Amino acid sequence: MYIIINIAKPIITKEEINTVISVMQSGNIAFGSYVTEFEEAFSSYCNCKYGIATSSGTTALEVALRACGITKNDRVITTCFSFIASVNSILNTGALPVFADIDEKTFNISTKSVKKILEKEVGIKAILIVHLFGQCCDMDEIMELVRKYNLILIEDCCQSHGAEWKGKKAGSFGEAGCFSFYPTKNMTTGEGGMIVTDKKHIYENAKMLTNHGMKVRYYHDIIGYNYRMTNIAAAIGLRQLEKLDEFNKKRTENAFVLDENINNELLEKPFVDKNTKHTYNQYTLKIRQAKRDQFVDYLKKNDIGTGVYYSLTIPEQKCYSEYSFQRKFNIADKVKKEVASIPVHPLVTDDKLELIVYTINKFKG
Ligand SMILES: *Cc1c(COP(=O)(O)O)cnc(C)c1O
Repeated sequence: MYIIINIAKPIITKEEINTVISVMQSGNIAFGSYVTEFEEAFSSYCNCKYGIATSSGTTALEVALRACGITKNDRVITTCFSFIASVNSILNTGALPVFADIDEKTFNISTKSVKKILEKEVGIKAILIVHLFGQCCDMDEIMELVRKYNLILIEDCCQSHGAEWKGKKAGSFGEAGCFSFYPTKNMTTGEGGMIVTDKKHIYENAKMLTNHGMKVRYYHDIIGYNYRMTNIAAAIGLRQLEKLDEFNKKRTENAFVLDENINNELLEKPFVDKNTKHTYNQYTLKIRQAKRDQFVDYLKKNDIGTGVYYSLTIPEQKCYSEYSFQRKFNIADKVKKEVASIPVHPLVTDDKLELIVYTINKFKG
């Protein structure tokens, strides 16, 4: 018998299935009251005043940037090491990304690198940070720079639902926090996203942008999009949100078992900053001695899924070859060759964890 342990798997129970059936039967399959209910519940979970549901994490980011006033030719500092959506959203507003290197231990944006950029360049308008793999950036240092240089802060929380820095929720630090509910994330609605904010004008701008720039029906004040979330997705989101803390707890427990039992000198286990509550969207190892690809192949042969997030920095992606981006990074260029993530999601049961640990500890390369 083959047990394949996937790198990610959404948890869909009778509750989600039944709520979808009831929405379908109600006929309100596009807009409906679940959308508003989900916006209120999710923003309140993040301790923010307002929520704007969107069609994805990517559209949440794009709308948040525009709602905060980011526009053509503005420059936005961001990390070179993330999912490409973080940067496409900047480019889609007409603004330009300025890439910072990352911290070797947390994989998050390096505040040292950000500081260097800010000292050298004038006219940077905003910073888009990513709380990668479920761990918050160093928010003390980020907030200090945000205040000193008067930056607009946008948080990409697409991997950090429920994560915290010194007890404060990811998404509640900046002008806006953006979340994804894609099935590999800590909670899902199929496709879907959310912006959270404390500012009324950002909320109003974002609401209009997601809905073709319309406040009064068929009167379009600005050029917007259809980036709305469906009532079906929102209903699923409400059921998932109720279980988010439980999902995150299981991820953390699984990570603890991996931390305690993985013992292989070729591997470096995830570093967790004592100020963060890590929610382990990914459990990411560093593999030494250029053995990362062998490690991934080895686990594949043993039916254990892995993910390499990310094997390229964003600016070196082919789609950006025409842009004159910074493409050399001291840390990220090293880290991209070392990382591999292993299964940590809530459906990884104790016997599977044992098998993962046993297999990994035998890896010799
Ligand atoms: C998943 C993800 C996104 C995009 O979310 P989608 O819902 O897939 O559009 C953006 N940023 C990061 C860091 C992500 O992990």
